[in-house]
Amino acid sequence: MAKRDGCPICGKPTQDEFKPFCGRGCKDRDLLQWLGEGYRVPGERVDPNAQSGLDTGRDAD
Ligand SMILES: [Zn+2]
Repeated sequence: MAKRDGCPICGKPTQDEFKPFCGRGCKDRDLLQWLGEGYRVPGERVDPNAQSGLDTGRDAD
């Protein structure tokens, strides 16, 4: 698999714990933007255990 150049939000090197982002801040930001497409912004929806399906490209439904 080709590695990403860096965090898609700010371009910094990614961290395994937060990939493909550089850290929790950018991960949260991207998640909020993503959710903003069709969901209300939740208070807390970051699940550190749900990172295995980042590239599944699932539909919102
Ligand atoms: Zn970043």
